[in-house]
Amino acid sequence: MKWKKQILGLKPYQPGRTIQEVKQQYGLKQVTKLASNENPFGCSQAAADAIANHSASLALYPDGYASELRQAVGGHLEIKPEQLIFGNGSDEIIQIISRSLLQPGVNTVMAAPTFPQYKHNAILEGSEIREVPLKGGYHDLEAMAEAVDENTAVVWLCTPNNPTGTYISSQDLSEFLQKMPADVLVVLDEAYYEYVEAEDYHDSLSLIKEYKNLIVLRTFSKIYGLASLRVGYGVADENLIRTLDPAREPFNVNTLAHAAAIAAIKDQEFLKRCKKANQEGLRQFYTFCEEHQLDYYPSSGNFILIDFACDANEVFQFLLERGFIVRSGAALGFPTSVRVTVGSMEQNAGVIECMKEFL
Ligand code: PMP
Repeated sequence: MKWKKQILGLKPYQPGRTIQEVKQQYGLKQVTKLASNENPFGCSQAAADAIANHSASLALYPDGYASELRQAVGGHLEIKPEQLIFGNGSDEIIQIISRSLLQPGVNTVMAAPTFPQYKHNAILEGSEIREVPLKGGYHDLEAMAEAVDENTAVVWLCTPNNPTGTYISSQDLSEFLQKMPADVLVVLDEAYYEYVEAEDYHDSLSLIKEYKNLIVLRTFSKIYGLASLRVGYGVADENLIRTLDPAREPFNVNTLAHAAAIAAIKDQEFLKRCKKANQEGLRQFYTFCEEHQLDYYPSSGNFILIDFACDANEVFQFLLERGFIVRSGAALGFPTSVRVTVGSMEQNAGVIECMKEFL
């Protein structure tokens, strides 16, 4: 077979452990998954109802242009509907961008560690990858700007960054964007945007007016609690969106996902409650870390990376056997840390108790 040579070295995506699997393996009645930064409170009731009301349309293909969803998101964000591209999760938007811009002979710049799909897609497209180490847990934007040259096609910024939860300040981002050549696409992945509290966080949508080479990615998988339905989107200048659109699958977002996302975006009260609970949850973890002198990064997302100063896999395994699935930092570039999704107050208290036992 005439495989692309880069695909032969790639490992398939390794999904985390499922609740069912862990229950069976360890004979547990109760297992809590705090591994994939999902919303512990599920989704808005309005979104769940919308799905139930749309089951009759399952035999028909979805609207390939996502017209109603486009109107709803465009209205909510106060942007033109033509400035949006929807994907089967923001994962698909990352793929569309990579397919459209990356190829052998160009390079792409990203932080390390960061969300692994940027690198994965860049490998598939055969482009050179320039990883710039985080500095103290934060994007080193100066070094990233220096890594950009005339062959750079895409720069990936993840804010809040997965897995550290750290964000890029408004001023740092502006300075960085000013340095970027107009023919370099800057991707601002804001999967956790709705959780951010920081006052010096940028208004990314207004930056889009100024920078035609900027695309902002957001998702319904996190605070909206619709991870299973796979809906993400990109916001950018409409010419940029038009150029990316042909790389998209024609019916990439399904009808149930459209209906749920439209209902979800209208229920901002649900988001407010989730954001507040997340703040309280983060404080539970901060208090625990401080009481036990464990290092952590202050998080602007719905997860926290905690450094146990020992083999992360040991912590992971200890928690797993006691019914808590977290993410070992070993695979995330932090071999002594675990990344824990902020759950409900009870779930947080439960995992914290187990962590205390481990110590
Ligand atoms: N970007 C970041 C930073 C993420 O953490 C995730 C999910 N873990 C995604 C994108 C992809 O999200 P989805 O495809 O579910 O929209």
